[in-house]
Amino acid sequence: MSSSCSTKRFAGKKVFVSGGSQGIGEAISLAFAQEGARVAVNGRKKEKLDEFLPSLPPVPEGAHLACPADVSDEKAVCSAVAQAFREFGGLDILVCNAGILMESPSEDIPLEDFMKVMNVNVTGVMLCAREVLRHWVKDGTKGSIVINSSVHQLIPKPAFLGYSASKGAVGNMVRTWALEYASRGIRVNGVAPGAILTPMNDGWANDPDKYKAVSSHIPMGRPGESDEIAEPVLFLASDQASYITGQTLYIDGGLTLYADFTKNWST
Ligand code: NAD
Repeated sequence: MSSSCSTKRFAGKKVFVSGGSQGIGEAISLAFAQEGARVAVNGRKKEKLDEFLPSLPPVPEGAHLACPADVSDEKAVCSAVAQAFREFGGLDILVCNAGILMESPSEDIPLEDFMKVMNVNVTGVMLCAREVLRHWVKDGTKGSIVINSSVHQLIPKPAFLGYSASKGAVGNMVRTWALEYASRGIRVNGVAPGAILTPMNDGWANDPDKYKAVSSHIPMGRPGESDEIAEPVLFLASDQASYITGQTLYIDGGLTLYADFTKNWST
């Protein structure tokens, strides 16, 4: 049986996805387009976005859009978000997905590295959300925002201080925005993935010994796939989650369940 666009969950909806052409962001952009949404895909390089867009299923409302911008660059974000509103005539959903991490022992962390991670993972999220919220407050859109955080919102990540700090910060940003905009019907939630197979994790994912070692720490015994994050993102953005706001959903194969307690060692 063929499904018409009108039966699709996000038919007629317009979505902006930061860092939307690779890894988890790619899966999110694809899932929204498959469900009928028009997608404004952000990333740093226009050429990469132009290459990526044709891989998204077309929707009847019009073409998907490349919105190049470094999310830590205020001017660039303002212009990318304005471009999406102009071309699409509005936005219904924002997914702040772009994020980076850098490793360094905390006693030696270069300020530049720490700030780079904070600028992308915190300031970048703030700028994208601010620009979208500005429009929604004016035009009354009861939109939905989903922020891609991490299990490291909760679990400390030694030698990745900027990453831990930034993901802790976005958890509180989600709750702050959720409270600030609840009365306008704007919902804000987060997802907190565990270890997911994306280019960010090529360092261990392509090495069988390291892959096994990572898997051994995960109660479900395996890393996750990007699709397994995209689906919950779509749920939180959808009308099915119409009464959910200010929450962070951990999607981690049990990583945040204190796996050390699988077998009782305390009595
Ligand atoms: P990835 O490196 O594969 O993709 C990140 C995307 O963000 C890329 O498209 C990249 O171009 C884009 N990006 C990076 N810096 C940017 C900037 N300054 N401006 C615009 N775009 C930028 O990473 P991923 O694993 O898909 O991670 C996506 C998000 O998921 C990140 O926020 C990350 O912290 C989070 N996350 C990932 C995992 C994991 O295991 N992969 C786990 C928890 C959380």
